[in-house]
Amino acid sequence: MFDLKGKVAIVTGGNGGIGLGMARGLTVAGAHVVLAARNREKSRAAVADIERAGGAATAIDVDVASEASVATLIKTTTDRLGRIDILVNNAGINVRKPAHELALEEWRRVLDTNLTSAYLCSRAVYPAMKRAGGGKVINIGSMMSIFGAAFAPAYGASKGGIVQLTKSLATAWARDNIQVNAVLPGWIDTELTRRAREEVPGLNESVLRRTPAGRWGVQEDMAGVAVFLASAASDFITGAAIPVDGGYSTQG
Ligand code: NDP
Repeated sequence: MFDLKGKVAIVTGGNGGIGLGMARGLTVAGAHVVLAARNREKSRAAVADIERAGGAATAIDVDVASEASVATLIKTTTDRLGRIDILVNNAGINVRKPAHELALEEWRRVLDTNLTSAYLCSRAVYPAMKRAGGGKVINIGSMMSIFGAAFAPAYGASKGGIVQLTKSLATAWARDNIQVNAVLPGWIDTELTRRAREEVPGLNESVLRRTPAGRWGVQEDMAGVAVFLASAASDFITGAAIPVDGGYSTQG
């Protein structure tokens, strides 16, 4: 039910953080994973890390905010690996400023990287998945898909949009046997949140206080949900937004 042998997965932003946690899970289940990101050195190190553990991975450069770069990623993947069964739209950034201090360029950069990218990548893989008779798309939202974000209006808008994009693609592509779901991570220890901890005084303590599990999530916490949503185990689940948050979103 969870076997991914013979499957090819693209994980955008798969060279670190949550993306690498998910990519590792997918390779343990047997998939060949394409780590699609910009920083070549990080991507090379992540491929080596997966191969050391006995998995199969390939690094392909992409800027997910560029339509042309996404088209090249999909073509290169199909040319080199022959198929695309799974897409994880994970690449993301944040600019922490209240709306009245945020520049239009910053707003656009966050929306392009976090939301338009998911549309571009999903649209680009659709023909291959349809031809193959099915596929799996996993979009990464956030607690800010649910809650307001005073210091991250563009990020919050992008992550709210991810959930609605997920539902639209899920309904459009259900008859093609393509399931599209979102994962909403709670507070996970990554480069992104390490920077947030430095910039926002008291963040560490408030996350620990507010999270019922009493700890930050780690990369490994993201592997199981990726395998589940990428495998036949979830074939009748589509359009869902699943929190992976140690209970954060259930706390009143
Ligand atoms: P990281 O900063 O560790 O990873 C972000 C990844 O995105 C990097 O691998 C980066 O690679 C890639 N990336 C950024 N911009 C681009 C781009 N234009 N083109 C291609 N790749 C890009 O962050 P996280 O692992 O924490 O975040 C991953 C996802 O999870 C994001 O969508 C984030 O919003 C979301 N998330 C994270 C949470 C957390 O607590 N950590 C909570 C909720 C959601 P490179 O620089 O090499 O391009």
